[in-house]
Amino acid sequence: MTISFENKVVLVTGASTGIGAAVAKGFAASGAKVAINYGSSHAEAKEVLAEITAKSGEAELFPADLRDTAAARKMVEDVIAKFGRIDVLVCNAGGLVGRVGLGEMSDEFYESVMDLNVRSVVSTCSAALPHLKKSKGNIVITGSVASKVGGGAGASLYAASKAAVQNLVKTYAKEHAGDGIRVNSVSPGTIYTLFHKKHTSPEVLENITASIPMKRLGTPEDCVGAYLFLASDELAGYITGQAIEVNGGQLMP
Ligand code: NAP
Repeated sequence: MTISFENKVVLVTGASTGIGAAVAKGFAASGAKVAINYGSSHAEAKEVLAEITAKSGEAELFPADLRDTAAARKMVEDVIAKFGRIDVLVCNAGGLVGRVGLGEMSDEFYESVMDLNVRSVVSTCSAALPHLKKSKGNIVITGSVASKVGGGAGASLYAASKAAVQNLVKTYAKEHAGDGIRVNSVSPGTIYTLFHKKHTSPEVLENITASIPMKRLGTPEDCVGAYLFLASDELAGYITGQAIEVNGGQLMP
């Protein structure tokens, strides 16, 4: 059995950098046509596109700020206009936004974290649903180890937002099993991307590394296989409502 996404269209949100960029390249290498969403990192997204097309893959850029429901809907419409279908939706756009303690939290900060990590998933899944019903497709959502163990200092809301989306996976899986749609999540541990380069000190990352049984941080490429596996009907056709932990043993739930 091999993983092939020939003739499939895969929309990956937050695919300009980090995990999403690696996942987009992974699907393209497996034969999928890839819709690359990103928010503001245009140059990085263009690099992902160039890397895919240089290897004879097919992809296109779909910039959209997914904190905005209308933008998420338009992105899905644009993907349908270009490719005609969506077989796999990877909801990966997200982030910490900043480290803010409970006492300092503003409404604006609350909205920015929840809109980025929760509203984006709800509105993108909702917009893609009619198309996934037609294709009997599936959804893979990026959760986080933080959804189970809580966040590091200043990341309470981020951890809660990821717990929300990992919970949404379960209800969506139940609601749409009858439509032939599977819904799962990948729950990364500490993956060395811009996320941590921007928001976590080298000292904290050293301590985290020491606590991981495999004694290293994850890479975006470490995550790719879990997405391809869950999205493959051949390999994971009876798997729905589940989370795969990709964390070097950091958490064994
Ligand atoms: P990253 O390199 O910062 O990637 C974040 C991605 O989200 C980028 O492509 C970014 O695109 C996109 N994004 C941010 N705001 C957006 C918006 N408003 N609209 C559309 N796209 C937006 O970090 P990463 O670690 O790969 O993060 C990817 C996902 O993994 C996130 O959901 C994150 O929470 C999750 N995660 C990461 C870790 C980790 O340790 N790194 C662990 C668990 C979960 P632009 O820059 O173009 O806006």
